[in-house]
Amino acid sequence: MDSSLFVLVEDLRGEGVDKVLDRVLGYGVAGVTVGAVHHGSRDVTPHGPSKLTLRHDGAHFPVPEDLFAGLRLVPPTGYTDAFDGLLAACRTRGLKLHGRVVFLRNGTLGARHPDVTVLNCFGDRGYLTDLCPAHPDVRQYAVALARSVARLGVDSVVAEGLHYRPLKAERSFVPLGPMDAYLMALCFCDHCVARASGLGVDARAAREECARIVGGVLDGDPPAEGEVTRAALNAYAGPDVVAYARARTETITSLVADVKDAVACELVFVDPTGAVKGYRDGLPSPALAAHDAWLLGVDPAALADLVSSFAVLAYARDAARVADDVRAYLRSVGKHREVRVVLRPGYPDNDSADRLTAKVRGARAAGAHAVDFYAYGLASHRVLDRIPHALCPTSRE
Ligand SMILES: [Zn+2]
Repeated sequence: MDSSLFVLVEDLRGEGVDKVLDRVLGYGVAGVTVGAVHHGSRDVTPHGPSKLTLRHDGAHFPVPEDLFAGLRLVPPTGYTDAFDGLLAACRTRGLKLHGRVVFLRNGTLGARHPDVTVLNCFGDRGYLTDLCPAHPDVRQYAVALARSVARLGVDSVVAEGLHYRPLKAERSFVPLGPMDAYLMALCFCDHCVARASGLGVDARAAREECARIVGGVLDGDPPAEGEVTRAALNAYAGPDVVAYARARTETITSLVADVKDAVACELVFVDPTGAVKGYRDGLPSPALAAHDAWLLGVDPAALADLVSSFAVLAYARDAARVADDVRAYLRSVGKHREVRVVLRPGYPDNDSADRLTAKVRGARAAGAHAVDFYAYGLASHRVLDRIPHALCPTSRE
């Protein structure tokens, strides 16, 4: 079973490449998935030299001028030497090196170019971290970014953030239900509207309906109850809104096709739906991730015609739930496609080595081809030490 550990470049710099890779080797994983392009964050890093690590939006390699010549969007500069010698250091240890790219989440680019960010039904550009996947400049940027990372010689490009995102206000003293928040996050920029209209969707009606419903809640109407499902959305917001949301899958599928065509190595598509559901507490909402992916514009069955590998973020405490998510995903993409399951080895999903082991074994039995762990710098040594136990085929549950 293939495996890898996610590693962020700040952690490599802080602790040193050799020390980190030696530890990774000791965990028994087959490779590392290194963040070549990442988003800004402020992370507690339990075993790093600094216990609070600031990460910035950036590409952690020299941006190839030829690939970005004439493009409006160029990634902010990160640690340009992060990949120097990294491939050789991995090869020396027999480790694979995967290049992880966070594509459309970039607040620095969004602040510089607000017109390429998501525009909600009220006409607000309040989500500057989120580049709209329908915008032609964003699509060109994504292709150039993928090509740049493939050029680093990595075994695969791990494509994260290549979809629409669920967006929430940081502060709201008006109670918004999950469906209200979903409607408020739908992008109605000219490019999204044009794409939906091209598919025969009444985008104007969808926008007006979103604004009417959310506007009502902001005015004091009761918020929507329950999770966002197709049936619930249809009942709450009507068929035009559902059709509009569904149309976003074409935007994403065609974007992934462009990105896939740009790289010669393997492209791993990261579907974050399971993380959206269970990120906070490892208790995902009932519907399986494969069935709800469309809410972010992700159509696993359509993508399976384009990419051969999927990383499914299974952020759940329950091993049976992880296995169920893997099974559902394989039913969507077909058994001939690789499904990698991404697990958090510690809080809030795991409290013991046995629980992590049960998830790995369950995922394998459900048909998963690989397991990845998230992430080196964010978990304590004690938690990371659960990984070799979980990967050992003879370990007991
Ligand atoms: Zn848009």
